[in-house]
Amino acid sequence: MEGSGNFIEDIIDDELARGVVTEVATRFPPEPNGYLHIGHAKAICIDFGTAAKYGGRCNLRYDDTNPSKEDVEYVNSIKRDIEWLGFKWDAELYASDYFERMYDCAVSLIKKGLAYVCDYSADEIRQSRGTLTSPGTDSPYRNRSVEENLTLFRQMREGKFADGEKTLRAKIDMSSPNINMRDPVIYRILRATHHRTGDKWCIYPMYDFAHPLEDAFEGITYSLCTLEFEDHRPLYDWVKVNCGFVPGPRQIEFARLNIKRTIMSKRYLKKLVDEGRVDGWSDPRMPTLSGMRERGYPPEAIRAFCAAAGVAKSNGETEVAMLEHFVRDSLNKSADRVMVVKDPIKLNIVNAVADEECLVENNPNADEVTYRSVTFGKELYIDRSDFAAEPPPKYKRLVPGGTVRLKGAYIVKYVSHECDADGNVTEVNCEYIPDSKSGGVNAGMKVKGVIQWVNAKDSIDVTLNEYDYLLLDGDGDFNDRLTPDSKKVYSAKAEASLALAKPYDRFQFIRMGYYSAVGSYGEGRYEFNMVTGLKDSYGK
Ligand code: ATP
Ligand code: MG
Repeated sequence: MEGSGNFIEDIIDDELARGVVTEVATRFPPEPNGYLHIGHAKAICIDFGTAAKYGGRCNLRYDDTNPSKEDVEYVNSIKRDIEWLGFKWDAELYASDYFERMYDCAVSLIKKGLAYVCDYSADEIRQSRGTLTSPGTDSPYRNRSVEENLTLFRQMREGKFADGEKTLRAKIDMSSPNINMRDPVIYRILRATHHRTGDKWCIYPMYDFAHPLEDAFEGITYSLCTLEFEDHRPLYDWVKVNCGFVPGPRQIEFARLNIKRTIMSKRYLKKLVDEGRVDGWSDPRMPTLSGMRERGYPPEAIRAFCAAAGVAKSNGETEVAMLEHFVRDSLNKSADRVMVVKDPIKLNIVNAVADEECLVENNPNADEVTYRSVTFGKELYIDRSDFAAEPPPKYKRLVPGGTVRLKGAYIVKYVSHECDADGNVTEVNCEYIPDSKSGGVNAGMKVKGVIQWVNAKDSIDVTLNEYDYLLLDGDGDFNDRLTPDSKKVYSAKAEASLALAKPYDRFQFIRMGYYSAVGSYGEGRYEFNMVTGLKDSYGK
């Protein structure tokens, strides 16, 4: 799905050709500590896409080794979002199901003299670790006997020690140029109820120890992850080899997806939710997949965007306009065009006698063009911006003495207009030109422009939610860059057909933008989220 010949596929092609591997197995390993965001979508497309390309398998594996931050709400949202994005996992697995096996691996390391129980506090460990330019110093507990380590590690598991009192550390090299290899902690004591294992455990494996084992247990051949794990690969391999998994899985790193004006950190997104700055994880402004679903982004647009963003080896920043470009591209083909008037003023058709059905094209880009009927009549609404009593230069809509075409219906000619005490236009009076509908003898008349309209008699009142980016442009701290008033709510008049829309139906409101019916749409609740505007600024 990612096209051919990205560097990951080059590696796989080579290893398959040389017989290093005979199958391709990948996994997507979210930590259930938040909702998935657009960055995760990229990882999902790569993990699932790579497996699919080679006829292999891809597991959904929850990396649930940090109970204090994890929750079943997140587990469930992750499944829903992956399915929505259009992928199906081979197996649903949990790192916590391997806790016993991981414990056994730790014991085997102790027996080989490759792990020890350390009494240092977190601070002491940090201080003795050295820096990029100076080596670390050995812990005084480094040379405990295998017997003593086995006993202490068992007692850690049995709850004999307080949280943080002891750790299990891999015995590697305190002067390694790679700080990750300076006797990293592989188990910690933590009393926190786990969403799956409850209070069974009070010790939990650290990511760098757990992850290679999870991959190895599942027979994963390619552990695809983001670049920040590159420096952890020697530790990944150390764990794998010393726990007896040879050749075992291979870790390959690719660049993270970063998008301008977009927050791509679960920790910070959670902060926005917790502080009530947004309406939950699924707020349409959120760059979460749930937020994008509410916003009305088509999943195929997100997949196309991820494919176009590509699989790179170095980090960059993608324009947010690129994502919107793919959303617009998808909706341009799939969304029906309908008429909505956001700031209505009355348009009276002085010579109209009776209501009349007009056929309007649903979508000029559809494979098969279909039509719906809208009712033309005596009292219509048009947008305030589509009439100017004193038109500015180059104004292309209705003016005193002028004509304009009502989309899908007649050409109308100005007669007069009325204002309130403040001089604001309240009503415009026009006469329609008979036989000026498309195909009529007067259809060819020259007009200034085409505008949308709705019938006052059968239009429905709708609510429009319109959004700005959560972040202002720039690169400072997120906290200083939140856009004030990033949500605006409008009421508008919509053509009658929209009463029949279903939740998540997407439309182009002509001359306005793309809009998506909210998840609770219907039964008198006529609310739309603006998906994106009509103007494409990508590549300009
Ligand atoms: P965050 O930093 O937002 O908390 P994370 O990396 O901690 O994200 P995980 O649940 O651990 O979140 O991520 C699951 C997978 O998604 C990992 O393989 C991770 O590398 C990948 N991933 C996370 N963010 C991005 C991103 N911005 N671009 C590409 N892949 C990502
Ligand atoms: Mg993570």
